Amino acid sequence: MKEFEKANVLTKKFTQVTLSFHLDEFYSGNVNDMSVNTPPKNLFSLLEKSDRVLVTAHIRADGDAIASVCFFSTLLIRMGKSVQAVLHDSNPDNRYSFLHGFDMICAPHSCSSFNPDMVVILDTPTLKRLGDVQYLIRAGMQSINIDHHESNEMFGTVNWVAAASSTCEMLYEIAEIYSEYFDTALAEILYTGICFDTGRFRFSNTSERTFRIAAQLVSKGCDVESITENVFYKWSPVKARMMGEILSGMKLIKNGSVAILKLDHTFFISHPDGWQELEGVSDLGISIDGVDLSIFFKELEPGTWKLSLRSKGRYNVNEIAERFGGGGHAQASGCEIKGDFNAIVDQILQNITSN
Ligand code: 5GP
Ligand code: MN
Repeated sequence: MKEFEKANVLTKKFTQVTLSFHLDEFYSGNVNDMSVNTPPKNLFSLLEKSDRVLVTAHIRADGDAIASVCFFSTLLIRMGKSVQAVLHDSNPDNRYSFLHGFDMICAPHSCSSFNPDMVVILDTPTLKRLGDVQYLIRAGMQSINIDHHESNEMFGTVNWVAAASSTCEMLYEIAEIYSEYFDTALAEILYTGICFDTGRFRFSNTSERTFRIAAQLVSKGCDVESITENVFYKWSPVKARMMGEILSGMKLIKNGSVAILKLDHTFFISHPDGWQELEGVSDLGISIDGVDLSIFFKELEPGTWKLSLRSKGRYNVNEIAERFGGGGHAQASGCEIKGDFNAIVDQILQNITSN
């Protein structure tokens, strides 16, 4: 698909979502002033009529995904619903254990007795990205899909996919509507997801609206310092050493404009939950002056490489990842490729074109 055609499709999709639902009556205060994307009305009707709700997000859940799940589970419990929070990962990233609702999150095998009448799928562009959670979703089950990934496949009964920094930024709109339940705990959850997905408010997805919402969350009592410390400044010694080794082995190619970082499977043998330690590694490559594209290769299984791609803008890494079956955003994306490391690097380099 040509670039402009793709842009049109996306604009159409977002416009459709934005224009179809103007819920002025649902809003209190000044939210409408800064709102470009509002939740569809049928999202609330489905939510209200559901009693037993499964709440989930993507595999190897990151800060936005975990926070989204904590937010929705906590909110629905406060609304009197029966709720099961579930993620594919048997040990979700413990850095987020300070979030209200984190302790409720179960692995798919331990919640198969829960009989949901609806599922809320957060921050997840495709059902495949749910990992084993997809097997808990019965055919025909009603679902709400809330996400900010351009590549979202609109698989829900109700889909709310919008251009926002994070799913948590979108969820602020829902928190405002259920204002009687919107306390500091929920505000801290949303701030955490937004802070994470914007890389501490520094990626290009950080908009005026993001800052306005963050300001509202701070006014609700968020402890900004402790959240930032919990999410970004609690490296384990293992992580610090691993970062050093990865940087020592980094390759700079294409006149120093592309950084290649690599972590072999041996690391994951000695650290089975080691994928949780990798947050921020991809940013190391892109932090270097002159680097426009950074690719971090993680050998999760022997011969299976999970790639994290980051761009400063010259490359659309969502398009690159999509070519290899993955996706994400223009400046941060991922995909999984099987094969020989050097062969994959060559294959990717042949497939990249800068803007
Ligand atoms: P990360 O590199 O931090 O794992 O992911 C960066 C972004 O790309 C996130 O928004 C993440 O959801 C998305 N992403 C990572 N891997 C995949 C993948 O295999 N498929 C898709 N569709 N998105 C991915
Ligand atoms: Mn996200």
